[in-house]
Order: sequence, then C-alpha cells, then structure tokens
Amino acid sequence: MRPILTATAGLLLSSLAAAHYAPALPLSAIAQPSGQFGLPFAGAPGPDSWLLGQGYGNTTGAYRQRRSTYGNLQGIHAGLDFSAPCGTPVRSIGDGVVAEVDGPHGSLPHNVVIDHAGNLSSLYGHLLQRASLRPGQKVMRGQVIGQSGDSQGTCISAPHLHLELRDKSHQRFFNPLPYIAADWNTLALGGSFGRGYEYDLSVPRKWQTPDSQPPALRGGRLLNEFANPWPPAPGGSR
Ligand SMILES: [Zn+2]
Repeated sequence: MRPILTATAGLLLSSLAAAHYAPALPLSAIAQPSGQFGLPFAGAPGPDSWLLGQGYGNTTGAYRQRRSTYGNLQGIHAGLDFSAPCGTPVRSIGDGVVAEVDGPHGSLPHNVVIDHAGNLSSLYGHLLQRASLRPGQKVMRGQVIGQSGDSQGTCISAPHLHLELRDKSHQRFFNPLPYIAADWNTLALGGSFGRGYEYDLSVPRKWQTPDSQPPALRGGRLLNEFANPWPPAPGGSR
C-alpha cells in the first residue's frame, strides 16, 4: 500500500502546485481591462485613511531590486501599493471566489487571493492577520476580506496594502489601473505615486506614467536592464 499512498500523495501535491502555478493562460483567454473592478478601500482617500503609494511597474524601488526581490517578475513592481494605517478594512475589488488564504505568493505576513470572472485573480498582500475566509467561499465586490498590515510587521515602518491583478494561473501580472474604475488622475496627485519611475535615458519617456506600465510574466527576462538608467544603479548600471 505504501507506494500507492506515496503516489497518491505525490499526485495531490502536484495538483496543488498546478493550482498555484499552472501554465500561463493565453492572453486571449483573459478579460481585457474595462474598469470592471472597484477600489480595495471604502471612503475617501486622505492622510488618515488611505493614499496611493508605490505604483505598479517600472518603479525606482523595483529597479534597485530588479535582480533580487523582483528578479522573477521581470524586474518590476507587479502590484499597486496603497498606504493605509494597519487595521484598515480591505475589500474585494470584485465579485469572486476565495482561491487561497495565506498561499505561497509572498507579500507576507498574510495574503488572500480571489478568483474573478475572465480568468483574473486579485491578490491582497501584507495583511495584518490571517483572513477569516475559506477557499471556495463566494465574496461580493466591496466585501471586507481582511485588514491591511505592514510589510515590515511593525505598523509604523511601511503600513500598506499590496494589490496585484494576475491571470488565474498566476503567471501573468497586469497593471491594475485600467481594470479598476477610479479617478486615477486625482488619486495620483497624492503620495509618491506617478513620480517614482526609473528612467532609461536612451528612451526617456518609456514607462514614465502610471498607465503606461508593462505587464509581467513570471520568470521572464528583466525588462529594465537599462543602458542609461536614472537614478543610477547602485554600483554601476550592470
Ligand atoms: Zn507592493
């Protein structure tokens, strides 16, 4: 019996792994952006509630860590950061089904993944506590699914929500902006949003606005090994 049990366990493990990291879906199978989702916070933005933080894409922060933290995401910040005090209620951006609670997707200490129509998934990272949700549970747009936390775990160093929009296979990462109906032009006036992108001075306008950022493919080549980066790379450009 032992070999059969082992084989069964192996199959189970591989199917679990497949659920997390299935082959990339073709782009044609993934819903195009049409403002079909909402913001992950309720109420008006502001210094006491929530503000946009680091943008999605070719940010200076991601550039500096392009070969380490973001090396498997083509060197870009594959999500959108919202600064918010710890404990701020986080809401599902759309109707969907809970796919994972504290799955293997980083963004510690706690994260939630929700599957949506159109083969899209949203990930809510750096949550304060393990969310009281069950995989398979249906959630509605705007439903509270957790509390925002701090990537450093202190609630004073970097309290923020990291929101990602992925394809359901978790291989592709998209700029959430065109998928989320919001007044981005006004929101971008606050915080550091929209002012923190790494330049390639050879192509100085490339990827410099919040809505012109590239999608990312897990494990793809680095997108920002720039010939003439600005700000300069620590220790040289290569
Ligand atoms: Zn982030």
